[in-house]
Amino acid sequence: MRTTRSPMHVLVIGGGIGGLCLAQGLHRAGIAVTVYERDESAEGRRQGYRLRISPEGEYALRECLPPALVELLVATSNERDDAGLVAYDEHLVQQWAPAFEDPRGNAPDKIDAVDRVTLRRILLAGLGDVVRFGKTFERYERTADGRVVAHFEDGSTAEGDVLVAADGTNSRIRAQARPWDVPRDLGVRTVFSRIPRASAVDGGMPEVLRDRFSYVIGSDGHHIGLMPMTFRNRPTEAAARLWPDAELVDLDDYYMSVFNVHGEDLGMTDEAFFALSGEELCALVVERTSSWHPDLRGIFRHAEPAVTFAVALRATDPVEAWEDGPVVPLGDAVHTMPPSGGVGANTAVRDAAALTRALVAVERGERERTEAFAEYQKAMVEYATEGVQMSLKIAQWSIKKVQDA
Ligand SMILES: Cc1cc2nc3c(=O)[nH]c(=O)nc-3n(C[C@H](O)[C@H](O)[C@H](O)COP(=O)(O)OP(=O)(O)OC[C@H]3O[C@@H](n4cnc5c(N)ncnc54)[C@H](O)[C@@H]3O)c2cc1C
Repeated sequence: MRTTRSPMHVLVIGGGIGGLCLAQGLHRAGIAVTVYERDESAEGRRQGYRLRISPEGEYALRECLPPALVELLVATSNERDDAGLVAYDEHLVQQWAPAFEDPRGNAPDKIDAVDRVTLRRILLAGLGDVVRFGKTFERYERTADGRVVAHFEDGSTAEGDVLVAADGTNSRIRAQARPWDVPRDLGVRTVFSRIPRASAVDGGMPEVLRDRFSYVIGSDGHHIGLMPMTFRNRPTEAAARLWPDAELVDLDDYYMSVFNVHGEDLGMTDEAFFALSGEELCALVVERTSSWHPDLRGIFRHAEPAVTFAVALRATDPVEAWEDGPVVPLGDAVHTMPPSGGVGANTAVRDAAALTRALVAVERGERERTEAFAEYQKAMVEYATEGVQMSLKIAQWSIKKVQDA
C-alpha cells in the first residue's frame, strides 16, 4: 500500500482524447499528473472531424469532467440525431435502417456526437500547465526503485511513479515495451473530408440525407458515409456562458464524409495514394462515384480540399493486457480499431475513467498497483475486444475483402 510514500505522480504520454480525459479525471481527484504532447497546439493532426459518442463514452466523459465542462460539451454537441443510421445503395434506394439501443435515448442533455477539435479543447480546459505541448516522447527507462523516467526528443526527461501510454496507434511506448505488437493493416484506404452543410443543402442535397448518418454501399466496392455535425450552440457563445477560459472556436455546421475503398480496387500504389493532395483526393472520390445517383455525386463537389486527407485502416487483433509494471496503456496504443464502428474514442475515454478509478484507489492506499492495473486491464481487454470485433464486422460487412486474421 502507498500510505508511507510521497504522493503519486502520473506521467501521461499523449494529449489526445484518452490522455486528456484521464488527466481531467486525475486532476479532479487531486492526483498529480503531467501530460506530454508532441503537437504544438490543440488543433492537432488529421484525425477526422465529427466523433459519434456512444452511451459508454458519454458515461465516461461525465465521470471524468467537472460538471460545467460536461454542460459545455452538451451545449456544443450535435443536435440530436434520432433517425439513426440508414444504408443505401448507389441508386439511393434504402437497404437497411438499424435501430441503436440507448438507455439515455430521450434525455434532453444526451451527447450524440461532437466536433473533435471542440472536444479536445474542452478536455484541455482548466488543465493549465498540466499539459506540456511540443514534447515528443522518445523512450523510457525503469529505475531501481520501481519508478519510471521518460526521455523526450528535446533531451529533457521526466520522472514519475506511473507512465501511461496514451500515444495512439503508432505508440512509441508500445514499440519499446512490446515490439511484436503491431496493429494489422486491414487493406482499406479511406478519404476523410468535411463538407459545409450550407453548400451541400443549397446545392440540392436531398432531405433524406440531411439529418442522419447515411451510408452508401456501391456495388462497385466503393462506399461513402455522411455524418451531420450541427452544433446546438455556437461554441464561443456556450463557452462564454459556461467556461470562459475554454479556448473554443466557432465552426459552421458540416458533414464529415468518409470514402472507403479496398487497396486492391484503388488502381494505384499506396505510395501514389498517400502522396495525393486534398484536391486530388476530392477529385478521386468524385470520379469513383460518377455513375452513382446524381444527388450523391453532387454532394462531394462541395468537399473542402484543404481538410481532405487519406488514412489506412488498422486493427489490434487480439487485444492483450500489457506486462505488469509502472507502464500502463490506454486507448489506441493498446486497442486500435477501424473507425467503422465509431467506438475507438469512446473506448479510450472508457479506459480513462476506469484507470482514474484504479489510480485513485492506489493513491488512497486501498489497492496495490499491481492488483489495480491487472483489474483495469482485464476489464479493458474484454470491452476493447468487443469494440474491435464489432468494428471489424462492420468493416467486413461493407468491404467484403477485409479478411479475418
Ligand atoms: C478519421 C477518423 C475518424 C474517427 N471517428 C471516430 C468516431 O466517430 N467515434 C469514435 O469513438 N472513434 C473514432 N475514431 C477513433 C478515435 O479517433 C481514436 O480511437 C481515439 O482518438 C483514440 O484516442 P487516444 O487518446 O488513444 O489516441 P489519440 O487521440 O490518437 O491521441 C494520441 C496522442 O498522442 C500524441 N503522441 C503520439 N506520439 C507521441 C509522442 N512520441 N510523444 C508525445 N505525444 C505523442 C499524438 O499527437 C496524439 O495527440 C476515428 C479515427 C479516425 C482516424
